[in-house]
Amino acid sequence: MKIICVGRNYADHIAELANERPDEPVIFTKPDTALLRNNEDFYYPAYTQDIHHEIELVVRICKEGKYIDAEFADRYYDQLALGIDFTARDLQNKAKAKGLPWAIAKGFNGSAPLSDFVSVTQFKDIQQLSFRLDVNGITKQTGHTRDMLWRVSELVAYISQFFTLKVGDLIFTGTPQGVGPVQIEDRLEGYLEGQKMLDFVVK
Ligand code: MG
Repeated sequence: MKIICVGRNYADHIAELANERPDEPVIFTKPDTALLRNNEDFYYPAYTQDIHHEIELVVRICKEGKYIDAEFADRYYDQLALGIDFTARDLQNKAKAKGLPWAIAKGFNGSAPLSDFVSVTQFKDIQQLSFRLDVNGITKQTGHTRDMLWRVSELVAYISQFFTLKVGDLIFTGTPQGVGPVQIEDRLEGYLEGQKMLDFVVK
């Protein structure tokens, strides 16, 4: 399986990092070794001093496809999860300044904590979902999927032109505003439509 991530998909987050609003989705990938499941502890690595949390809605692909039409994209995913796109912001800023890839800043071990999945059929409309991240009991990020610049169907269509999507692939659909650093001992809790999905600690 592969993990495909979307950067800059919420206007308020683009503004907080003073990034340019892209003409096309910004796509990057993480290796499968980035996954952290079952609310396991996240161990803060030594090569960065500035890891940021980015809470994101995650879509799981259930059918192989390429050049998928946005109109039929909903046939290609069946489950949702919440994930965190942990970002070593110091390494990313260094890479950005030199025009170099973000691979290590975004794809290091454990950089993709992922909740259990819930069926999309639980929800009426995937573009009408609220989610949030609490750090130590304080809400740091709140998002709503209606605010995506590219809707899930458009992302599936766009990505599938370049990368054939296969069963089990995951798409991290971008983070809303409120990203910030995590510290050792922080407890991170993620909620989708008020339901707790993620709950783990930084060690
Ligand atoms: Mg992100």
